[in-house]
Amino acid sequence: MLSFNREKCVYCKLCENVCSFRFTQQVRPSVAAIRIGREGKWGLPSARICDLCKDLEEGPKCVAACPEDALGVSDGGVIAWDDEKCTRCEVCVDVCPNKAVAYDTDSDRIILCDLCGGKPLCIEWCPEQVISA
Ligand code: SF4
Ligand code: SF4
Repeated sequence: MLSFNREKCVYCKLCENVCSFRFTQQVRPSVAAIRIGREGKWGLPSARICDLCKDLEEGPKCVAACPEDALGVSDGGVIAWDDEKCTRCEVCVDVCPNKAVAYDTDSDRIILCDLCGGKPLCIEWCPEQVISA
């Protein structure tokens, strides 16, 4: 699971760019698995990232809501997506409380943080060491 230190973020959004490029081979932050915004009176940076619904007693909402059993928690502690089972109904996109799931029409895939298989690009590229795993 990724952590985000808002005090250090300079709002460059490089993390969004590299994340979307990895999934779609294009810079399209609107479908990145990490999304940087601003919130509160002072407009402080905030990140939308998967936290495995850690604050919910029932656990990951997307997994429970998927009607096709196409999502699950992997041994690596990320949400795994099954391309074959998925019907692209986008229920997972709608139910995620963190808005951390996207459907990319161009590549026809559900985008969820998979920690880049163990070496997250957002951590590697962030110039301010804002993100950690
Ligand atoms: S993708 Fe969203 S709904 Fe699914 S486990 Fe992560 S935070 Fe929860
Ligand atoms: S889009 Fe795919 S993974 Fe998401 S809820 Fe629908 S079937 Fe499940």
